[in-house]
Amino acid sequence: LVALTDVNKHFGDLHVLKDINLSIAKGEVVVVIGPSGSGKSTLCRAINRLEPIDSGTITLDGQPLPSEGKALARLRADVGMVFQSFNLFAHKTILQNVTLGPSKVRGQSKSVAEEKARGLLERVGVTAQADKYPAQLSGGQQQRVAIARALAMDPKVMLFDEPTSALDPEMIKEVLDVMVDLARQSMTMIVVTHEMGFARRAANRVVFMADGQIVEEAEPERFFTDPQTKRAQDFLSKIL
Ligand code: ATP
Ligand code: MG
Repeated sequence: LVALTDVNKHFGDLHVLKDINLSIAKGEVVVVIGPSGSGKSTLCRAINRLEPIDSGTITLDGQPLPSEGKALARLRADVGMVFQSFNLFAHKTILQNVTLGPSKVRGQSKSVAEEKARGLLERVGVTAQADKYPAQLSGGQQQRVAIARALAMDPKVMLFDEPTSALDPEMIKEVLDVMVDLARQSMTMIVVTHEMGFARRAANRVVFMADGQIVEEAEPERFFTDPQTKRAQDFLSKIL
C-alpha cells in the first residue's frame, strides 16, 4: 500500500534519510523506533508530503505522491496523521474539528459529516465532549479526538508520531487502547512510539532506525527478545 524506494532527504549538510526502502502492506501495523534524531518524524512527514524528499520514490496505492493542488489535499486526507501535540483547531468545537475536513476535502454535506463524526467520537469515547472546545479536554481526550478527526477522512493509512509521549501516564492507556482497536480492525498503521506494550500487542513488524537508516526489521517479539544488531541491542538496553 505504501512503498518507499531509495528515499533520501537532507536538511542542509545533514543527511536525515539514507536510502530508505520500506513497504507496508494493506492492514499491516509497523512500529518505528529509534534514538532521538534518527529520522523517524521526517520519515512520517515524507509519507504525507509535509516534507519533500531529495531522491527516491514514495508511492501510495502504486501512485507517486502528488506535490500540489487538490491531489495533495486528497493525499493528506488519505494519509491520516496524529502528532505528539494534538494540533486540534483551538477555536472550533470538538464536533467541528472532526467535520471540517470531510466537508472541505471530501465534499460531504453537513448532516452526513456530523452523523459520521458523532459515530467516531463514540468510537474513541469522547461523545460527551462534542460541543466543548479543545482546551476544555484532557490531553488523552484531545488525542483521541485527533484520531477521530483523521479517521473521518476515511484514510488509507494512519501515521502516528509519538502520539502518547506528551501524555500523563494514566492517559496513555486510553489512547493506546483506541490504537489497538484500530489495528484489530485492519487499519494500515505506521506508528512511531517507544511503547513496547503497544508494539507487542498490535504490531506486525518493528522497524529500528538509527542515523537515518533502517538498521533492523523484525517481528516485535523477536526484536525485543533477540535483536540482531549491536545498535538495536544498545538502544534496547537503554529503554527497557
Ligand atoms: P525524535 O525521537 O527526537 O523525535 P526523530 O527520529 O523523529 O527524533 P527527526 O525529527 O526526523 O528525528 O530529525 C532527524 C534529524 O533532522 C535531526 O537531527 C533533526 O535535528 C533534523 N531536522 C528535523 N527537521 C528539521 C528541519 N526542518 N530543519 C533542519 N533540520 C531538521
Ligand atoms: Mg520525532
